[in-house]
Amino acid sequence: MDREIITLLQELVRTPSVNPPGNEHDTALVLANWLTARGIDVELIPVQPGRSNLLARVPGTSSRPALALCGHLDTVPIGSQVWRHDPFAGEIEQGRMYGRGTADMKGGLAAMAGALAMLARDSGNLPRDILLMGTVGEEVDCCGVRAFVEQGAFDQVGAIVIGEPTALEIGIAHKGALWISVTVNGRSAHGSMPSLGSNAILNTTKFLNALEQFDFRVEAHPLLSLPTTSPDQIEGGSAPNVVPDRCRVTIDVRTIPPLAHDSVLGEIRRLLDKTIGQDPDAFAQTEVLLDRAPLDTPPSNPVVRAALDVLLDLSGEHQPIGLSYFTDGSIITQSYKTPIIIWGPGEPGQAHRADESILLESVLMAAKAYSNLALSTGF
Ligand SMILES: [Zn+2]
Repeated sequence: MDREIITLLQELVRTPSVNPPGNEHDTALVLANWLTARGIDVELIPVQPGRSNLLARVPGTSSRPALALCGHLDTVPIGSQVWRHDPFAGEIEQGRMYGRGTADMKGGLAAMAGALAMLARDSGNLPRDILLMGTVGEEVDCCGVRAFVEQGAFDQVGAIVIGEPTALEIGIAHKGALWISVTVNGRSAHGSMPSLGSNAILNTTKFLNALEQFDFRVEAHPLLSLPTTSPDQIEGGSAPNVVPDRCRVTIDVRTIPPLAHDSVLGEIRRLLDKTIGQDPDAFAQTEVLLDRAPLDTPPSNPVVRAALDVLLDLSGEHQPIGLSYFTDGSIITQSYKTPIIIWGPGEPGQAHRADESILLESVLMAAKAYSNLALSTGF
């Protein structure tokens, strides 16, 4: 089985699914063919032309709610840096496979497929259905997981594992992200007579200074610390001698549980109104560019305990961790209370970089871990 899992990973890497544009259908087909050849029921569900989610199931023998293993089928582009290894060849060197998506997260998908194959082979005592859900679009707009949510695909699911790279540590929390575009308007005037205008850049500065002191009124999260704000883009003004009537900034807000994004946005709007002044021409518009909820599964949740037990057997004692990046779990958690853990092979630092790679041993260990978790009666 080990060799088969590694060959599958290689084939997944050799089938690019760079997003944009995605084109994940062929990658989903590689997984589907591999699973079908091992007697597993698989469905490809079109989301957009050339883009299909994958849903596979190994039936269990009791009525416990299913365990869903989830992973995204797309990858980020290869970037402008020169790679030492062909990004789409899956070259193996000293126990590591190189290529775009090896760590993020075709390695996780191959491990999950491997777990299903092992469970299908000797499925006699599988206490629950185990699902493999491959999603399109995670790297851009999460359209795949949104489609699954709309179809009710998580309705009978009791626990979810997302196989993003965590070096097999058990992630139980991650921050949310709220990206806001703020446009401050003003009134233009001759640069030599600023009092006749309303300076949009100056007003934006007042807002940004106030934002630096923004109080989220929330306790620090034990694994994620405090929320943050960061103004990351700014543009405004038209000439060196014209009072600017427009300035636009984008703000990257990273939130922690239990903050609700609509109330954070409301507070930021209030701060904006308060700081840009009374001038009738000074007004601001906000637009949400991205909205991903934070994730928070209690460490005492039975599936977390069961995963820690699995890990204890395989590699000794571990503690749950918090993660800096967000996942498809942000979308699921907005509609379902189902516990979610982020648990996958590959080091997080390998994601999105040139010469991305994964330790093959960790892929095989992940397959074993997923399979053992599916067999656990602890949740
Ligand atoms: Zn990822």
